[in-house]
Amino acid sequence: MKRIVVVGAGFGGFHLLRTLQRRLPRGAAELVLVNPKNYHLYTPLLPHVAGGRVHPASVAVPLRTLKHTRFVRGSVTDVDLTGKKVTVRDPRDRDSELSWDRLVLAPGAVTRIFDIPGLKEHAHGFKTITEAVYLVDRVLANLDMAATTRDPAEREALTTFIVVGAGLAGAEYIAQARRLADAAAPRTRTRWILLDMADSVMPQLGGDLPAKALKALRAQGIEVRLGMSVQEVTADSATLTDGTKVPCRMLVWTAGVSASPLIEGLGLPTERGRLVVTAEMAVPGHPGVFALGDAAAVPDLTGGDGALCGQTAQHAMRQGPALARNVAASLGHGEARPYRHHDLGMVADLGGLKGVASPLHVPLTGAPAKAVASAYHLMSLESLSNQVRLASDWIMHAVTRPAPISFGLVPGSHAALTAVEQLGIYPAADAHSDGSAKRGKSEKATASSGGARSHRPT
Ligand SMILES: Cc1cc2nc3c(=O)[nH]c(=O)nc-3n(C[C@H](O)[C@H](O)[C@H](O)COP(=O)(O)OP(=O)(O)OC[C@H]3O[C@@H](n4cnc5c(N)ncnc54)[C@H](O)[C@@H]3O)c2cc1C
Repeated sequence: MKRIVVVGAGFGGFHLLRTLQRRLPRGAAELVLVNPKNYHLYTPLLPHVAGGRVHPASVAVPLRTLKHTRFVRGSVTDVDLTGKKVTVRDPRDRDSELSWDRLVLAPGAVTRIFDIPGLKEHAHGFKTITEAVYLVDRVLANLDMAATTRDPAEREALTTFIVVGAGLAGAEYIAQARRLADAAAPRTRTRWILLDMADSVMPQLGGDLPAKALKALRAQGIEVRLGMSVQEVTADSATLTDGTKVPCRMLVWTAGVSASPLIEGLGLPTERGRLVVTAEMAVPGHPGVFALGDAAAVPDLTGGDGALCGQTAQHAMRQGPALARNVAASLGHGEARPYRHHDLGMVADLGGLKGVASPLHVPLTGAPAKAVASAYHLMSLESLSNQVRLASDWIMHAVTRPAPISFGLVPGSHAALTAVEQLGIYPAADAHSDGSAKRGKSEKATASSGGARSHRPT
């Protein structure tokens, strides 16, 4: 029996497998999924988790819901394209090999880190449950310490929170985290600063929605400073690119992503760091190898010459079923087709009844946008038990405050930027990048940032 190995259970890999198990006749192929965690993470609701209003389990869909798939827990650290094998490192750091007849690469992206002094050591990323749970604890712990210190300078640093990157992740996070702090310590004065080198927040919303989102964020007391980043981060301060030194004990870095280092290690052509694929999501010159999602440079056939699909869940979750069809076709079941998807607009929940959304490019703000965003997320979760849990979290927190409890379950070292991304596990990426992957991928990421706005200090 042919074996299809899928690397990564994110939006791309998870939705690909859901379709493949329906599309392929039983016994036509063995489906194997390799992923370091035993769940698929619904990242768009991570800000709600970090705001203490949604339980982590509500946004983590168990991989056991994939019925005819063998799950291998671990990370693929190397790919042998000639011998058709991948190396899998299990949670106990033991390596084993897995052969494949078809290989689907869907390892997503990692936080893009720039060469900013102190960033790797002192900033936190925001892509995983580990980080979201840690950030809840960290905000609450800072507020507890601020309540007991007699030193006003110390109190100021503990109650100042900086988020760099005003895309969906950063803007939604700061809005939710602010509400968490207000609920936990209503009498404590806190300062929230959102920085971005761009001249608007969430530019992907299009039209005048970024301006409306900016207004909504500022109305919540969030200091949004555009055309600005950080040039140095220490344990108790951040120096902004205009030279201002801001005392602060927590800085969250959401300023962009770059494709998984696994892609760099393949030694194949990339575009903006993403693996070059055809419109059918096949890797040119390597029959039987496919890629999708944030890790792949999938041509956007609706976007004009040379356009690439955005690194969004919206694309990845649609590329999955489209690629399932093409993988099945490569085994003689059906016909391959190019991926083509018209952008359906974006939704952003800014806490409370605030939000902005552009469903089918109809601009909405306030409660209607919030309703559309909530309905969209609920439907997209696609697991009944997760949907029920999520709805009950939302209902409960509509009438109660989030519990201001800091369990401290995630040690700071586990939530450090480079630890969460496991950047040191890719030997081939290390060789190709002259060691930058192991050091935190900062040099490489800066070089591959292409036309993207740069947070590197000038
Ligand atoms: C906080 C946040 C909010 C977001 N909000 C939105 C939003 O509102 N709308 C939107 O469209 N997009 C949003 N995004 C972007 C969206 O999450 C990504 O574009 C999408 O997840 C990409 O899907 P993917 O399958 O390529 O990768 P991912 O979903 O990131 O999945 C990659 C999977 O591969 C696994 N993996 C990684 N390396 C390996 C390896 N070596 N071996 C095996 N497995 C591996 C990972 O653990 C993960 O399970 C958000 C992202 C974040 C972080």
